[in-house]
Amino acid sequence: MYDQEKKQLLEICLEMISLNMVIGSSGNASIRVDNHVVLTPSSVKYVTMSPDEMVVIDLQGELIEGDRNPSVEKHMHLGVYNAREEAKAIVHSHSLFASALAVLRKPLPPVIDEVVPILGGEIRVAEYAMPGTKDLATNVVKALDMRSGVLLANHGSLCFGKNIKDAMHNSILLERSCKIYLMALQAGQPVELPEEVVEDEADIWDMMRHY
Ligand SMILES: [Zn+2]
Repeated sequence: MYDQEKKQLLEICLEMISLNMVIGSSGNASIRVDNHVVLTPSSVKYVTMSPDEMVVIDLQGELIEGDRNPSVEKHMHLGVYNAREEAKAIVHSHSLFASALAVLRKPLPPVIDEVVPILGGEIRVAEYAMPGTKDLATNVVKALDMRSGVLLANHGSLCFGKNIKDAMHNSILLERSCKIYLMALQAGQPVELPEEVVEDEADIWDMMRHY
């Protein structure tokens, strides 16, 4: 089932490794296909993984296909897909600068023009819960309201997109923007975009998110 999606998913995981956004088997990614979700398995290193080790579950979490256990973060992926119909793919990374901001439990304010139309506005930090728990899924869905990305307190980030490449692009954009913000914080006091610009750009995000 879903051979194409499984291959795409593995390519994205290897890209996460090459961009130093995760190490080993950490982080995870998924693609929604109708009522099914193709998800990375738990505890398999991406560099040795083959596409047929991906797991297929339904939107309630029942196993449809796969010999491996699904990622421990399956609740988080399912929570997002069930709450957000426009989410077609998810990338969850432990990238350095997004994680640093998440450790500070500081949101990413609207300081970079391209972030607001693509991710929706200020990127909030989901309240802390242990990895793999349903509480983490609940907190992530809440902090992701009207956004395409979120930081996970003391953990990392999650972005969704119209397809897996789009979700990955959003993740890279979030990482890059957290880096810029943290660098700016070290040098001085970052200045946010004008409020009316943020509103207009957020409208663009809202218009585009279903297309
Ligand atoms: Zn994680």
